[in-house]
Amino acid sequence: MSGKRNERDSWLWHYTRDGCYSVKSMYHSILGSGLCKEASNCEGSPSGSGSKVWEKLWKIKLPNKFKHHLWRLANDSLPSLDNLRRRGLQVDGSCPVCGIETENQFHLLFDCVVAVQVWTLSFLSSKIHGLNQPNAGNWIQEIILTFGDEDLERFTVLCWLLWQSRNKLVHERVRDDTLDLVNSAQKIIHDFQLVTGRSLINQESPNFDDRWCPPAVNRVKFNFDGAVFSELRDIGLGVVVRDHMGKFLAALSERCNGFVDPLLTELFSLKNSIWLAKRLRYRDISLEGDSVQVVKMVNRDGEDFSQSGLLLKEIKDELRQFRSWDIGWLRRKGNRVAHAFARYAKSVEQLQIWHDAPPDFIMDELSFDEHASI
Ligand SMILES: [Zn+2]
Repeated sequence: MSGKRNERDSWLWHYTRDGCYSVKSMYHSILGSGLCKEASNCEGSPSGSGSKVWEKLWKIKLPNKFKHHLWRLANDSLPSLDNLRRRGLQVDGSCPVCGIETENQFHLLFDCVVAVQVWTLSFLSSKIHGLNQPNAGNWIQEIILTFGDEDLERFTVLCWLLWQSRNKLVHERVRDDTLDLVNSAQKIIHDFQLVTGRSLINQESPNFDDRWCPPAVNRVKFNFDGAVFSELRDIGLGVVVRDHMGKFLAALSERCNGFVDPLLTELFSLKNSIWLAKRLRYRDISLEGDSVQVVKMVNRDGEDFSQSGLLLKEIKDELRQFRSWDIGWLRRKGNRVAHAFARYAKSVEQLQIWHDAPPDFIMDELSFDEHASI
């Protein structure tokens, strides 16, 4: 951007005098500013179903900032470079992400290489591209109308993350990893579900803050985590075992080729915890990871026919062989030791196990947990 390089894009709300957003002004703007001819028939909406679109949009169970962003997208009013140019600003209109195409909302969301990767990795690609609308705004409206709740939540958060990531690249020259975006979306949704009580896990997990807690006396705790090395197309699995005093007992780092799915990665790291527990002959174990989805899946009864269902069944069968076991969730920050072992897998040939004495690289994180848990 010429002459404007240091200025951040900022949201400016046109429908109030002070430029600040209010719900009332938004509804007025929708109903009265030409976005809608009448409440029941929105101009430019797919099949004249405008009010249904907005109704569904505001019911999405996510923090408001994500819905506001989606609303902007559905109205084609993102300050993308071509929109800024249309408003007379002198900017280079080429896409800051790929540098090839002109940046407009459609390109940014559906066409650019990063967007394509994001939709593929989040299993939304075929659903998105199964639709066809003349412009990005209408496309978004069609998505809002036709997607189920879970897909729509994921789509909404990912749209927001794509835009944040694009801004980070423009302003800070930092490029996000595509898989990190997909993981972040999952995390945002689950965190929100926990906060709003839609997940059962917060009732089951006492660790509702960022600190690691040692297990009860006579139990050992296995913290597990996965890391995705997308540039290598590899994953790293990390496990750390500690007792009720927080004392290090064992750890494991394993590097595996070829998996890219974040959920499977977490499940594999859980499976490794169980494998290590059996090998070390522990009979009463607590398992803890930072993936809400995994903890939910293990705690839930019944068959799971999803992609990861087979692995999950194996895990549940193995868990039955222990005298007692439980699984809980903690925030990613509290799981930093397991995460460090998962990251360390990058420098491991295949599998490395530590007994009794922890490796040097983990000392700081370990002592942090010891102090935090007192
Ligand atoms: Zn691009």
